[in-house]
Amino acid sequence: MIRFDVLTLFPDLFAGYLSQSLLKLAIQAGLVQVHLWNIRDWSKDKHQRVDDRPFGGGPGMVMMAEPVVDCVEAVRAKAEPAGRLLMMTPTGRRLDQRLVEELAAEPRLLLLCGRYEGFDDRIRQVLTPTEVSIGDYVCNGGEVPAMAVIDTTIRLIPGVLGDEGSAADDSHSEPGRLEYPQYTRPRTYRELDVPDVLLGGNHRAIAAWRREQSAKRSEESS
Ligand code: SAM
Repeated sequence: MIRFDVLTLFPDLFAGYLSQSLLKLAIQAGLVQVHLWNIRDWSKDKHQRVDDRPFGGGPGMVMMAEPVVDCVEAVRAKAEPAGRLLMMTPTGRRLDQRLVEELAAEPRLLLLCGRYEGFDDRIRQVLTPTEVSIGDYVCNGGEVPAMAVIDTTIRLIPGVLGDEGSAADDSHSEPGRLEYPQYTRPRTYRELDVPDVLLGGNHRAIAAWRREQSAKRSEESS
């Protein structure tokens, strides 16, 4: 079982995501827990503000240290163990399958989602989170990156995927290795045929073809 605590200004963004498909089933099966927390609930401001103008000038607003740190500390204290804190930020460590494997071994992850121009740097200095980026581009907020962390991590939690073999065959399960091409019915689509080897029932030949195709794809993409 893995527990996620998502700290966000927009918890409602997760409603559809949590109530569909694999994640919904994993939650129902007790394999995954997701708890949503609104950072605004820790604002001491009478208008519940959590952002302010940047010192030194410049565009946009910056998330203030106090409500964010208070929120993280309060959420941490709500359950055992305290969990590993991930700060979603485009300046962080790139999320790849190695990091996903590392995260899937944790019992509890706290996912801190930024908005606006990002976080007051003292949040990072005080909380020393693992800073995680989903790629070299900028999203409007940390919610989609947090969903990417949840989505990739739960695939590695035993029992979440129907067929335990499927995560092991996935692209990137070995560094740099991409999955072979897959086909399903019909056998011919727009004059494109499924390769004969996949129809013959010879499992050794199928495995050999898949290894060869996987190597070819991996080589082409490197
Ligand atoms: N001004 C910041 C910068 O240039 O680094 C970007 C702020 S972005 C508009 C707002 C929030 O979205 C960030 O604080 C972070 O939580 C999240 N975010 C945006 N892109 C991300 C990425 N590639 N990976 C992880 N989080 C990201």
